[in-house]
Amino acid sequence: MALSILLLDDNPDDRALSRRELERHFPGCAIREAGDRAAFEAQMAAGLAYDVIITDYQMRWTTGLDVLQRVKAHDAERPVIMFTATGTQEIAVEAMKLGLDDYVIKSPRHYARLPVAVRTCLDRAEIRARAIRSETRLSALLENIHLGVFRMSLDGRVEEANAALRTMLGRDLSPAEMAGHPLLAKVREKLPSLAKTLDAAEIQAQFESDPAGFRFYVVKLLRVRVNGHDAIDGIVEDATSLRRADAEIHRLNAELEQRILERTNQLEEANEALEAFGFSVSHDLREPLRTIQGYAHALRQDFGAGELDNLRNYIDRIDVIARRIDLMVSDLLEFARLSRAEIPTEIVRVAAAVGEAQAVLQAEPAYRQARIQVCMDPELSVKAHRLTLVQALTNLLSNACKFVRAGQSAAIVIQAVPEGRKVRIAVQDNGIGIDEAALGRIFNVFERLHGEEEYPGTGIGLAIVKKGVERMGGSVGVESTPGTGSTFWIALERP
Ligand code: ADP
Repeated sequence: MALSILLLDDNPDDRALSRRELERHFPGCAIREAGDRAAFEAQMAAGLAYDVIITDYQMRWTTGLDVLQRVKAHDAERPVIMFTATGTQEIAVEAMKLGLDDYVIKSPRHYARLPVAVRTCLDRAEIRARAIRSETRLSALLENIHLGVFRMSLDGRVEEANAALRTMLGRDLSPAEMAGHPLLAKVREKLPSLAKTLDAAEIQAQFESDPAGFRFYVVKLLRVRVNGHDAIDGIVEDATSLRRADAEIHRLNAELEQRILERTNQLEEANEALEAFGFSVSHDLREPLRTIQGYAHALRQDFGAGELDNLRNYIDRIDVIARRIDLMVSDLLEFARLSRAEIPTEIVRVAAAVGEAQAVLQAEPAYRQARIQVCMDPELSVKAHRLTLVQALTNLLSNACKFVRAGQSAAIVIQAVPEGRKVRIAVQDNGIGIDEAALGRIFNVFERLHGEEEYPGTGIGLAIVKKGVERMGGSVGVESTPGTGSTFWIALERP
């Protein structure tokens, strides 16, 4: 856009000479002349849209100082040059105080200085405008970023703080209160270490005061020298969410590691149990097989020697042992099935399950000879897989009937009582009891404390009870006094 100049002078010749000089230096510039009050007022009313205003000092209708004041009141940044033959040094000084941009003495020699003064004014105005633009941009940026920015004097006073910092520390804090905030108190402690210009430091601070947890800040400090005085510039980052995410990752990692550890232990235990199980199965199944081989060998020898008397006895024993192996294998299969199969639970009435177990045992002579007492609230229920519970109760009841003392008949009490969140079902007998040393073993597969002739069985009954109950989320146990009797119990969750 072409340069525009307002020329205030009541002498038409001076105006003409000024115009000539300006047009020579600024070809195409638009110069408006105002020689009287009306013309000046009209320009004021029109908004004074000129790049530079040049005014004489002594005019018939006003002075250059009045003009200057009016223009600067309208727009403090608008350049004004006083071009006068009548002004004094005092006037020049006063005008400068009021914001005059340049002062040129009007004489034939000085006309050439007028365009130079205009150029200088324009350059200065441009620099000023640029500075204002970048300052506006900077302060808008400072107010809108999410980083807290502040300047602190060396004695710890907060000189400036942006909106983000005010939000972080408490929006309504005065600068003095802000300086007392624990975060800025930490900054103040650091000030002595920033001895020289451009010395820098970083502070990390965590405060537990926040009700939702902690808040974590990172503060970067820089010692600066501004307009001849020293200060500290600070940038504050609220790194709480990063820190929280970090803490959460640590927590999850630790949890994961703990879970892996537990899972590894479980796997190791399962492996050991499997090994022990494999060993005992192969060992215990081989024993009856070896006996069969022994009878087969005896059969062959006696038959070869023509001694036929014992042959039927051998064949009967082989038959009995083979049936026993069959029983052991089918019990083992049942145990293996319980380990693998889905055991969904439902609400089962304990009294009904006990009734079913009794019905299963009805055909056994030992059961029919026993006196059985059932004591429980018929409505008492547990969370269980019905068939697995009936099987566990059948095995416990069958043992209670079987392990009786010589010459005695079994007296059994079946009880169920609520215990906290569980129900404890106990089968108490008056049988032979169990040695304390053996109590820990009897729930293992093939673990038996007696010979087959004394008390028949496969040694898997209690292992099936334990596995089944544990798969239903419950636990089992036994208390016993040798020669007096035993109480086996199952604890299952209440619905
Ligand atoms: P089984 O009854 O086939 O021998 P179990 O696994 O049911 O196998 O029992 C393991 C062992 O625990 C039994 O051989 C016996 O020595 C002991 N036992 C189980 N129940 C009782 C009981 N009620 N009284 C005394 N001993 C018992």
